[in-house]
Amino acid sequence: MMQSSTTPLSAHSPSGLAAVQEEIARACREARRDRASVTLIAVSKTFDAGAISPIIDAGQLVFGENRVQEAKSKWPALLQSHSGIALHLIGPLQSNKAKEAVALFDAIHSVDRPSICEALAREIKSRGKQPELFVQINTGEEPQKAGVAPQDADEFIAACREKYGLQISGLMCIPPVEQAPAPHFALCAKIAARNGLKNLSMGMSADFATAIQMGATHVRVGSAIFGTRTVPHA
Ligand SMILES: *Cc1c(COP(=O)(O)O)cnc(C)c1O
Repeated sequence: MMQSSTTPLSAHSPSGLAAVQEEIARACREARRDRASVTLIAVSKTFDAGAISPIIDAGQLVFGENRVQEAKSKWPALLQSHSGIALHLIGPLQSNKAKEAVALFDAIHSVDRPSICEALAREIKSRGKQPELFVQINTGEEPQKAGVAPQDADEFIAACREKYGLQISGLMCIPPVEQAPAPHFALCAKIAARNGLKNLSMGMSADFATAIQMGATHVRVGSAIFGTRTVPHA
């Protein structure tokens, strides 16, 4: 079985996870980046506890979900039986779910409008818990996709900080499916750099190696680890 030289996995590591770890290590070597500068988020949406447990047992501790409700239905039990897990919300957030999201998640990748900022600021204050926050940028300016338009990004990030008092950790993007991802990753990285943001959540199963080349600090990988999803999911 292929294993990354820098991230030891258990002897019976599931093959998808091991292959992804190997590919991340290779992409880091090629980009002359420290392997520790890239966090793998295993995207477990649509998969149940039975599929998730072996991945945890193989040493993977960071997971991504795109729906608050689904995460709430399966993660509390898993969190009880396993320690050290971090959950990232990678899908759209509604303000009326901000309370549950702040309670359950360690990071939220979909901050993209004032109503969310307001709801998050309120919950963070009342719970005294601060999830890591990423502003989602709609780099392809797709009307159906969440995220702040690139030309509005600087102003929005400033408002997050100054008006809502939020600590923003980085930016997230999802390139249009039918386009080459690299220019979108580059745009996201450029907006982050000029706003003094260090973290970049970008890259999925099909393009995480490219994203690492372009500076991704968080890659969100689902099907390459868990297999093809049978339930279609946004
Ligand atoms: C589902 C999803 C992913 C993972 O997609 P794969 O192609 O299965 O790796 C990453 N990011 C977001 C926002 C997603 O919704």
